[in-house]
Amino acid sequence: MQNLKKILNEIDRRGYKAYKQLRGAYDLGRFTLFIDHVQGDPFAAPSKLRARVPQPEAGFDQQLFSTRSRKIALQDYITRAFDRAMKKGTGGKKGSGKSGIIAIDCGRQQILERTSCKIQKEFVEICFYAGLPARGRRILGHQALRMLTEEIPGIVRSSMFCAAHPQKEVQQFIQVNEDQDHLRKALQKKGLVAFIANQSILPRRSGVSDRPLASSETVPFQSPPELEISLHAPHAGTIRGMGIPRGITLIIGGGFHGKTTLLSAIEQGAYNHIPNDGREYVITDPNAVKIRAEEGRNIQKTDISPFINNLPFGKNTIKFSTANASGSTSQAANIIEALECQANLLLLDEDTSATNFLIRDEIMQKIVSKDKEPITPFIDQVNNLYNQLGTSTIMVMGGAGDYFEVADQVILMDAYLPVVVTSKARQLISQRKDARKKEAPPSFGRITERIPRPESINPYKGRKKKIKSRGLDTITFGFEHIDLSAVEQIVDSSQVNAISQIIDYALQKKYIDGQNTIGRFLDMVFDDIQKNGLSVISAYSNQHPGSYALPRKFEVAAALNRLRSLKIIQK
Ligand code: ADP
Ligand code: MG
Repeated sequence: MQNLKKILNEIDRRGYKAYKQLRGAYDLGRFTLFIDHVQGDPFAAPSKLRARVPQPEAGFDQQLFSTRSRKIALQDYITRAFDRAMKKGTGGKKGSGKSGIIAIDCGRQQILERTSCKIQKEFVEICFYAGLPARGRRILGHQALRMLTEEIPGIVRSSMFCAAHPQKEVQQFIQVNEDQDHLRKALQKKGLVAFIANQSILPRRSGVSDRPLASSETVPFQSPPELEISLHAPHAGTIRGMGIPRGITLIIGGGFHGKTTLLSAIEQGAYNHIPNDGREYVITDPNAVKIRAEEGRNIQKTDISPFINNLPFGKNTIKFSTANASGSTSQAANIIEALECQANLLLLDEDTSATNFLIRDEIMQKIVSKDKEPITPFIDQVNNLYNQLGTSTIMVMGGAGDYFEVADQVILMDAYLPVVVTSKARQLISQRKDARKKEAPPSFGRITERIPRPESINPYKGRKKKIKSRGLDTITFGFEHIDLSAVEQIVDSSQVNAISQIIDYALQKKYIDGQNTIGRFLDMVFDDIQKNGLSVISAYSNQHPGSYALPRKFEVAAALNRLRSLKIIQK
């Protein structure tokens, strides 16, 4: 503390660069403050700091972080508490640029592993950011002293010590997270791909807010009797709700009756949610992948022949490459790439699909003969996908009844409530006179795995590495920009940050070596993360690692597959 005071006294009013002297560790009594990186000027990205509290003092019982699930939940909880305390306890801006701001990378509706907090037997540590105060480019030493020795300790006191929190709330947060992990494992044993608990609140506040719609306006979810099951959660006990079995499930219904809302909740059910999100007991197979059309995307040597053949001019679809995919070819590639990474469940919505990829009806079959149509629509492969590869599908299809023929379950959304109409749908389709011809090929064919060429993935822009991410949808990687706006299961900008870093990590570790397939190198990366924590991907894993949240392997593969410089060797 004395040392910190002394330095700040000396550098007061001097040029901003003098702040660099602050780098180091300071004993502030109840915790240690690490100043790992000092910003170059008041307008640059804020400085990187850590606060570490020794464990006996912090007082978190080992039971609270004895498993991976509990640890992730507790870390997430402490991060949120720090964020709240910070918003209450800082005086705000204190000068030019980012002077005086304190920030932490904090989750929203999901509970994700992230690098903002680390909890171990020995200590609890929070990684955060602070804008060291200046007026113009002159150091404001006294303001800095207040910030570092009063404000920050205040925030630490009200977030990093167990005694600062209502014990019930901490317990509940961890238990709700643990229940979700438990239920997701139980799904597989019960032959289910998704579960939606009764009373869940599925709709969100708006297109730009992931928070639940106010309860006065919502219809809580209620399972139809035919699909209602009980699952056991270790803490919440018996939970009843709708179990969606493996196979092909169709969600139908009139416009504005909640079809897309249900499917979105299922998409997001691959992640855990905070208590009171409304979707904390909407649980989906972790290998569920949303599939949509994505005109204009880049495709590199993907075997889309299960869906597309005989293109004009004899263009090859076994090694299909294009810099500008159509709706149907992009949707086909999105499926094949998901299958390459072992997707168990595909999620499709008519709203975001290419119509000609989904269906070719009987009239069209008569006018355009099969040999003139390159597309084998999804309807003719969806059963092969399940029977031969074990991959289930849930799709929203309000506009065409043809899928009744291939569906195992048909769920009608009626004023936001699901009704099972499978037998009625089957009956109607069997009575139809002029049915569409089945054009299903006998087999889906095998999935050709692909090997990325390391020299085609270059994080350098000239001599310097340039790896950056912005929001939920943009990565800058060397000279390239990757557009992730159609990758809908990315939920946190820090996941995007991690995705770009993981690609670089895999290059550095030579996991991308010209031999390993995409699936293989991703397994190697995720093994490392599992063993050593997410900060392993950072160059500063023992200091402030930066802001990362764990993505799924599907989203990392999606980013790589959208890198326009990527070159592939087919296995
Ligand atoms: P569809 O896909 O069937 O056309 P959406 O899922 O897009 O319908 O839902 C239409 C609207 O209804 C959306 O604004 C959504 O937020 C709202 N909504 C969906 N489910 C519910 C619900 N359970 N209670 C209240 N409003 C809902
Ligand atoms: Mg819709």
